[in-house]
Amino acid sequence: MNLLLAEDNPVNQRLAARVLEKHGHRVTVVENGLEALIALENKNFDLILMDIQMPDLDGLETARAIRKLEVGSGRHIPIIALTAHALHGDRERCFEAGMDDYISKPIRTDNLLKIIEKWAIGSPRLDRPVEETVL
Ligand code: MN
Repeated sequence: MNLLLAEDNPVNQRLAARVLEKHGHRVTVVENGLEALIALENKNFDLILMDIQMPDLDGLETARAIRKLEVGSGRHIPIIALTAHALHGDRERCFEAGMDDYISKPIRTDNLLKIIEKWAIGSPRLDRPVEETVL
């Protein structure tokens, strides 16, 4: 799959990218929400891994912006939050912002692969026109 990883921490960037590439995915790494939006303009991705805390535009704001852009397009790209908060309510905040799922940091390799597999199989909410998957 083509994955977009939005994460400002270089250690997490390297860890996630290495694991995902080892499992056959192509990973584009960006450091904040603005870069994520620009990347989405230029390329189609199958799934986004989105850190919550990033400079400029954080993960929640970015997810909201992406969902706004999708209105009327029939598209729904899965967005998985990477959250450092194990706090109650964080899960709800992610879902309210339009994210589909989340994993908590520190990132565990098995969790990361499991959640990608879950959303790769195609959720009922994933509704992408066929022609876009071949671009
Ligand atoms: Mn961060």
